[in-house]
Amino acid sequence: MSGKEKPAIAVSACLLGQRCRYNGEIKPWSGVAELEKSFRIIPVCPELLGGLPVPREPSEISGDRVITRSGKDVTNAFVTGAEKTLESVKRNGCVAALLKERSPSCGRGLVHNGLFDGGMVSGNGIAADLLERNGIPVFGESQIQELLKGIAL
Ligand code: SF4
Repeated sequence: MSGKEKPAIAVSACLLGQRCRYNGEIKPWSGVAELEKSFRIIPVCPELLGGLPVPREPSEISGDRVITRSGKDVTNAFVTGAEKTLESVKRNGCVAALLKERSPSCGRGLVHNGLFDGGMVSGNGIAADLLERNGIPVFGESQIQELLKGIAL
């Protein structure tokens, strides 16, 4: 028998180098190897789970809606993607999520302000918010040390 199985954690797929960012860029995050020492990684991309394509227009949260730069309302896709992300988190028994900061889906604590001018406001992305409201601790990628200290392994 092997030792205790590592706990599962949901991670934004773009941080893992998957091609799911709005502009199609691949940008792997340098913290993945450290995370993998302690966790079994479950990739999630709420926007793709919500049916959005790659590439796609950038979107920002504006009031209770999510709007693309050209003004299209994509709230329903974001909500569907958040619900499917929560399903995956529950199905895989994830103890936490580590999500891409500032995204209108994945951001926690700070997101773009809805004006597409680079400004930020306090708040959560749609998926990060749903996970938190369902008791899943959400961390941004700059909080990996807090995550490693905070979760009982
Ligand atoms: Fe990355 Fe989240 Fe945006 Fe998907 S929705 S590309 S996982 S930040």
